[in-house]
Amino acid sequence: MWNYFRDIGLGIVTVLTSMGVAWRHLFTRSVTLQYPTEKWTMPERSRMRLFNKIEDCIGCGQCARACPTDCITIQTEKRGKDEPEVFASDGTQIKLRTYVFDIDMALCCYCSLCTFPCPTHCLVMTPEYEYSVYDKLDHIYRFAKEKPLSGKAQKPHSEKTESHGQ
Ligand code: SF4
Ligand code: SF4
Repeated sequence: MWNYFRDIGLGIVTVLTSMGVAWRHLFTRSVTLQYPTEKWTMPERSRMRLFNKIEDCIGCGQCARACPTDCITIQTEKRGKDEPEVFASDGTQIKLRTYVFDIDMALCCYCSLCTFPCPTHCLVMTPEYEYSVYDKLDHIYRFAKEKPLSGKAQKPHSEKTESHGQ
């Protein structure tokens, strides 16, 4: 009999304690983020989606050589002597025509090793993290805008032609 009333008392104390916790949180600031209507501001040096400002890319391939997952594909050709000289925004002459610059973000491990050797600082990691797709081939971002004059083949990754970037 004593145990019966003790359990009832414990039950009442437990309910009142939990109600007290619930009531206390009614008057404190909410920490739940209502994603996707609310979003965190990502830290300044977040490593998310890559972006190449292709107008400043000299086609040197240092980024592709640094990449541990081989997810950067570059194809270039020499610009002709009779073509007008082209320069990156930092003044570096662009002697190669980059007609393929693909990054397969489905293979990328976000290490950022490709961005450090880039001599013109055109390859950067952005804070953009919302780029889910239904087809993983849509994660191949094609940045090249120029066509090869030598008639070489393009698009080594797949037949997809859509371009991505900022
Ligand atoms: S972040 Fe790393 S894995 Fe991704 S493309 Fe750059 S070097 Fe390759
Ligand atoms: S390292 Fe920079 S300049 Fe060189 S190919 Fe890569 S993105 Fe272009």
